[in-house]
Amino acid sequence: MLENLLKDKKGLIFGVANKRSIAWAIAQACSRAGARLAFTYQGEKLKEKVEELTRTLPGEPLLLPCDVTRDEEVKEVFDRLRETFSTLDFLVHSIAFANREDLEGQFINTSRAGYLLAQEISSYSLTLLAREAAPLMASGGSILTMTYLGGERVVPGYNVMGVAKAALESSVRYLANDLGPMGIRVNAISAGPINTLAARGISGFTNILAHVAEKAPLRRNVEIEEVAHTALFLASPLSSGITGEVIYVDCGFHLLGL
Ligand code: NAP
Repeated sequence: MLENLLKDKKGLIFGVANKRSIAWAIAQACSRAGARLAFTYQGEKLKEKVEELTRTLPGEPLLLPCDVTRDEEVKEVFDRLRETFSTLDFLVHSIAFANREDLEGQFINTSRAGYLLAQEISSYSLTLLAREAAPLMASGGSILTMTYLGGERVVPGYNVMGVAKAALESSVRYLANDLGPMGIRVNAISAGPINTLAARGISGFTNILAHVAEKAPLRRNVEIEEVAHTALFLASPLSSGITGEVIYVDCGFHLLGL
C-alpha cells in the first residue's frame, strides 16, 4: 500500500550529509513510496557523499549545491528545479547549525554572532525556502521541517539551538497561515534524539539518549525509520487536513513532567 503513496509526486530534500542523516531516511522512505526526488548538498566536500547515496535510488535524482546562507545558491536551486521538475509537491527542510561553543555551558554566554548564525541557518531558512517553493506548488503541496523538544523545554547543552527551534516552530504556524489558502501545508516533526552528525555536536548527547531510553513511555529511543514514516505521512495526501502542527515522534518522552 505504501509503494504508491507518493506516485507521480516530486520532492526536494535539504539536509542529507551522510547515511545517518534524518533527511536520508526520509528520502529513502519517500523514494520507496514512488516519489521522484531532488537533493541539495552544502559545499563541494559533501557532493561526493550525497552523490554516492542518491545513486542507490531509482530515477537519477537531481543534485544541486545549496548553502542556505547564500541567496544566489537558493535561487539557482529553484531555477533549476523549475526547468527540470516544473512543479513541486513536497519539500523537506532538515537543516540546522550552531557553533560548537554555543552548544555547551550556559546559554547566557551565547555571542551575538553565534545567536544570529543559528537563527539564520536553522530557522530563517525555512521561510526562505517556503517562499521560493510556493510558486512551484500551484496544485498545493506539503512542506515539512525537523524540530526538537529543546525548542520548548530546557535541555542542557541544546542552548541557542533550542531558541532557534522555538522560532522555527513559530515560523511553521505563520507559514501555514500564509500558505494555507494556496493548499500548501506546513508542519514540523519533533523527533526524539537520534545519533547523527549534528546531534553529536551537542554536549552530553549520549546521556540524553540513555535518559530517554530509561524514562520515555515506550522505554526506548525512537528509530530513524519511525521519523521517516511520519515524514512520508506528512508529505502524502494521507495528512491532507493537517497544517501548522508539530508532531512528536519521540516514544512519548515529551509527555513527562518529571
Ligand atoms: P545531519 O545529518 O548533520 O543534518 C544536518 C544538515 O544540515 C546537514 O546536511 C548539514 O550540512 C545541513 N546544514 C548545516 N548548515 C547548512 C547550511 N548553511 N546550508 C545548507 N545546509 C546546512 O543531522 P540530523 O540530525 O539529520 O539533522 C537534521 C534535522 O533534524 C536538524 O534540523 C536537526 O536539528 C533535527 N533534529 C535532529 C534530532 C537528532 O537527535 N538527531 C532530533 C530532533 C531534530 P553540513 O553537514 O554540510 O553542515
